[in-house]
Amino acid sequence: MKEIERLIRPELLNLKPYSSARSEFHGQADIFVDANENPFENKINRYPDPLQKELKSKISEMKGVDPSCIFLGNGSDEALDLIFRLFCIPGKDEVIITPPTYGMYKVLANINNIFVKEAALTTDFQIVVDSILKQYDRETKILFLCSPNNPVGNVLNREDVINIIDQFPGIVVIDEAYIDFSATSGFLDLINEKPNLIITQTFSKAWGMAGIRLGMAFSNPFIIDQINKIKPPYNINVLTQKVALEKLNDEETFKKNLASLKSEKLKLAAELDKMDVVKKIYESDANFLLVKFDDADHYYKYLLDHGIVVRNRSNQFHCKGCLRITIGTPEENDKLIKILKK
Ligand code: PMP
Repeated sequence: MKEIERLIRPELLNLKPYSSARSEFHGQADIFVDANENPFENKINRYPDPLQKELKSKISEMKGVDPSCIFLGNGSDEALDLIFRLFCIPGKDEVIITPPTYGMYKVLANINNIFVKEAALTTDFQIVVDSILKQYDRETKILFLCSPNNPVGNVLNREDVINIIDQFPGIVVIDEAYIDFSATSGFLDLINEKPNLIITQTFSKAWGMAGIRLGMAFSNPFIIDQINKIKPPYNINVLTQKVALEKLNDEETFKKNLASLKSEKLKLAAELDKMDVVKKIYESDANFLLVKFDDADHYYKYLLDHGIVVRNRSNQFHCKGCLRITIGTPEENDKLIKILKK
């Protein structure tokens, strides 16, 4: 792990983390008078398990990954933010992103005062290994990839990704927020053999839990330990841990909703394809479609005037004229189709 240690901010490598009252004894005594809580039971009077052992054990089983390789965050956005803070020295270090991509990488870089370099995707929205390597220099700490990519929905070519993980001298983060919708299984199988790889995933999308804010990062135990050291002690609250466990045990609902979203995506794509105003529908392994219109701004406003909010991605690289449309319920999709047909 020497080559990874070198990438971590030195002051954090030696950081003595906050020792929360419950890290050691969570749930393992009769009387807890150690954390200045209110003793009167109301289901939420106690601090949550800071290491989320029960939830991690469920996720470990689902994903086939050891609990020591799992970090849980307040949404995967928190995981991404902590990854920035673990590796990048503010005002000095930089990261590489591959536009068009998820907007938070740049925002988090700006918040943390980290420079951003860009290595654009091809017109087929694939990475170019050489142009990423060309952007690399000594201050580059992290490369952010997103697969399936937002805002397009395509998955990155596996061979290219493995190639860049092997050649990139910094950390490679692959954001797999939409992986549950994909026909491919993503890159989770690589975390134990590629020491510089971190994968992020979320329960906000396919699992339908955006409201409780629960995201994951997967990596080797060394990196996961380092992220855990710098996280807020009780970042996953009691209600989130409880509801997540309930939902994760209800696989039937998950599968039913997932099947609906997949078939609705096909239906929506087929209907949009018949419309003259639609110029192109991009291949998507996610729960949205990037759609090129003959006049995106006009249709954005037209839909808004009819009570439908889509995302205008026209100003993003390679996305001129495009709106990003999330797959809704069958009724919502029918309504959108009907209004567009008018
Ligand atoms: N990554 C991507 C690519 C996303 O699109 C999103 C949400 N829009 C996130 C991460 C953040 O998800 P979370 O709700 O887990 O913070």
